Amino acid sequence: MSKVIGIDLGTTNSCVAVVEGGVPVIIPNEKGERTTPSVIAFTESGERLVGSAARRQAAVNPERTVASIKRHMGTDWRKNLGGKMYSPQEISAMILRKLREDAQNYLGETITDAVITVPAYFNDIQRQATKDAGRIAGLNVLRIINEPTSAALAYGLNNGAAQKIMVYDLGGGTFDVSIIEIGDSVIEVLATAGDNHLGGDDFDERIVNHLVAECRQRQRVDLTRDTTAMVRLKEAAEQAKKELSATEAATISLPFITQHAGQPVHFEATLTRAKFNELTRDLVERTEGPVRSALNDAGIAASELGRVLLVGGSTRIPAVQEMVRRITGKEPSRNINPDECVAQGAAMQGETLSGSTALTASTGILLLDVTPLSLAIETVGGVATRVVERNTTLPIHYSQIFTTAAAFQSSVEIHVLQGERPMARDNKTIGKFRLKGIKRAAAGVPQIEVTFDIDTNGILTVSARDKDTGMAQSITITANEKMSEAEIQQAIRDAEQYASQDGAQRDKMTTINEAQRLLNVTQDALNRHGKQLDKEEKKRIKADMALLTKIVYKAKPEKMSDADFEALKRAAETLRLSSEHLRGMDT
Ligand code: AMP
Repeated sequence: MSKVIGIDLGTTNSCVAVVEGGVPVIIPNEKGERTTPSVIAFTESGERLVGSAARRQAAVNPERTVASIKRHMGTDWRKNLGGKMYSPQEISAMILRKLREDAQNYLGETITDAVITVPAYFNDIQRQATKDAGRIAGLNVLRIINEPTSAALAYGLNNGAAQKIMVYDLGGGTFDVSIIEIGDSVIEVLATAGDNHLGGDDFDERIVNHLVAECRQRQRVDLTRDTTAMVRLKEAAEQAKKELSATEAATISLPFITQHAGQPVHFEATLTRAKFNELTRDLVERTEGPVRSALNDAGIAASELGRVLLVGGSTRIPAVQEMVRRITGKEPSRNINPDECVAQGAAMQGETLSGSTALTASTGILLLDVTPLSLAIETVGGVATRVVERNTTLPIHYSQIFTTAAAFQSSVEIHVLQGERPMARDNKTIGKFRLKGIKRAAAGVPQIEVTFDIDTNGILTVSARDKDTGMAQSITITANEKMSEAEIQQAIRDAEQYASQDGAQRDKMTTINEAQRLLNVTQDALNRHGKQLDKEEKKRIKADMALLTKIVYKAKPEKMSDADFEALKRAAETLRLSSEHLRGMDT
C-alpha cells in the first residue's frame, strides 16, 4: 500500500506530514518551507498560484487572491475568480492539491490516501465540505480528525501515561480548546469549546489599526484609502507581532508606503510588547470563557489536568502563554512544535488506518471524537427531545422509540435538530423527512424506532423504522442544512442564558402533553367501561375532563402564568385519580 499523508488544512497555514521509519516527518514544499500559506490567487494571465507565491502578490492583486477560506467551509459563499464562481471546497482543494504534489515530489511516488484535520468544533456540514475538498484534489480521505486530537496523538508518541490533558489551540483564524483523555490505546475527547472567529489575524488587525491611527496623527495620511499600502501594513504588523514574541520592541519600517499630494510617504514606527499587550488584552481574555466551559463540560478542575499543550502559531505570544498559566495553574508543555504537531498526528493516524506495521503497537491509537452540540428530534408540542447529548464520543449508534400523537396516523415527520434548547423552534433544523406506511392504530400504539448514526468522520445519518410494518426511511445530513461555528457558539451561549426560562417552559409543555394523553386514555376507558359507572361518577369524570380540556386547549407554554400552570396541574391530578379507577376496570 502506498503512503498515507496527514494534512493540517489550516486557516492561515497548512502542513503535510508522513510517517517514515515509524516517525512522523514534515514534508517541506518546493521552497523548503515546512508550512504552506493557505492562500490561492489567479494572476491576470490566468495562472494559478498557491502558498507563499499567492500570499506575496496579494498586495498587487487583492481582488483575485483568497485567504482564510477555511472560515467559509460548509457555507454557500462563492468567489468569482477569472469569470468562474468557486466554492470553498474548490478553493480548499487547490491548497490540498498543492500539498499532495509537494508530498509526491518529496516521496517520489503517487499519493492518494490522506487523513485531514479540522477544528474540533466543525459541524457535520463543514466536515463533509472538507472531505469533498479532498476528493476534488484527487485524494481518498481515509478520515477527518479533530486538530486537538491529532496534536494529542503526536504528543502521545513519547508519552504512554494515562492522563487528562488540555489542548489550547490558537491559530491564525480559529481558537479551540479541548480536554482529552489519553489512555493506554485510546485518546478520547471529553469536551471541546472554542471560537471560530478568533486568531492571529485579529491580533494583526489590532496592530494595523494602531499604526493607521499613528500615521494619520503624525503624518496626516490615511493609509486605509490605499489597498496596496494596507496589505503591506498588514504584513509588517504580522512580522512585528512575531518579533514581539521574542523581543521587547519591534520596528516597523515601510518606505514608499503610499503617495500624498504627489509626494512619496515613508512610515516608520516602534511597537513595544507592552503596547501590543494593551492593544490585544481583550483578545487574549476572550479565550478564558471557552477554557472554563471545556473544563466544566469535562467535569474536571484545572488542577486535575496532567498536561496543557499549546498548538497553533499564536500560542507563541508570551501574553497568551501567561494567560494559560494563570487559568490552568500549569506550565504549558513546549516539547512539541505548535505549527507541526497537528499534521504529525494526522500522519500517524493515517499510518494506523493503512494497517502498516511501521508504528509500534502503543502508537496505533484509536481516535474517539465527540459531537459538538446535542442532537434531538421534535416531538408533540414542539419539544426538542434529545437523542444524542453534546460531547458524546464518536462513533455513535443510538436508538430511541417514539410513537404517534394522533389516532390512525399513517405517517410522521422526523424533524432533526441540533442545539441545546428544550423547545424545537429555538434549535437549528438540520434535516427533515417523513416516514410513511405506519400501521394505522390508536395514538401511542405504533413503535417508531429512530436511530442516529454518526461515523468516525462526524457525518450524521438519521433513520426511522416502524417496528410493526418494517417501513423505514433515512437521511444523511447534507450541505444544505448547515450550522456555522458562530451559530454553534451562539446556541451554547443561548442555552446557558435561557436555561432557567427554557426549563420552566419545558415543564409546562411536558405537563400539557401529559394532560392531553390523560384525556385520551380517559376517553378511551370511558368508552369501554362507562356503562358500568353510576351516573354521578360518570358526570363527575366528564366534568373533570371538560375542565382539563378547556385549560389544555388554551394553554401556551411560553405565555402561561404560574397561576394557570397550577390550575392545570390540579385539574390533571383530579382527573388522574378518577381515570385510574376507571382504567382499573380493564383487569
Ligand atoms: P497556524 O494557523 O497555527 O499556522 O498559526 C498561524 C498564526 O500564528 C498566524 O496568525 C501567525 O501570525 C501566528 N504566529 C506564527 N508565529 C508566531 C510568533 N512567533 N508569534 C506570534 N504569532 C505567531
